[in-house]
Parts: sequence; structure tokens; C-alpha cells
Amino acid sequence: MKVLIRTVKEYDLDDISKHLLVVGDLSGDCFNCKEFGLNYSSIKSCPKCHTEFRYIASRKSNNLSSKIMTTLHKKRPDLAYIEFSDLKVHKNREKAKDFLS
Ligand SMILES: [Zn+2]
Repeated sequence: MKVLIRTVKEYDLDDISKHLLVVGDLSGDCFNCKEFGLNYSSIKSCPKCHTEFRYIASRKSNNLSSKIMTTLHKKRPDLAYIEFSDLKVHKNREKAKDFLS
């Protein structure tokens, strides 16, 4: 039986940032160039910067995001689901590090 289990895996922050499709209320955004209004159900790459999407995340993600994760996985089983709040933590750390150096 196939089920969804949340796991922890090490990723390259730059790779995720470059190939991430972020899903909002009605449409998706390219995390790389911020192009918005993308149809996240079917889009394979960004029409503006041409990056190939490999990851998907929801802006609404939080600790109760199992339903969102399941919905997005059903729509886009070809993309790895990323917890957006985790990504934001690492991006903020990166910004702080750049600011201090
Ligand atoms: Zn783009």
C-alpha cells in the first residue's frame, strides 16, 4: 500500500530556491524569478526564467499541513513536496549571514 510519510532529507538550498514552484490561493509562483499566476496543476517550467520545476511548496504550510501536502502530491506527484516554513528559516539564516559578513 502506497502512503505519504513525511521524511527529513538534506537538500541543497540553492537547488531548491532555483527549482521551486510555490502554490498560493489560486495559482503558483516561480520562487526563482517571482513570476506569478502560474497554473501549478500542470506547469513543468517557468515561462519567464525557464527554470524546470522539481519542488513544490505551499505558502499556507504550517504544522497542520498534511491535507495541503496530500492535495499537492496528488496533483503533482512528479514534484518533491517541500515544507515552505523550513525553507524560509534557512533563507532568513542565509540573509542574516550575508548581512553580517
Ligand atoms: Zn521563473
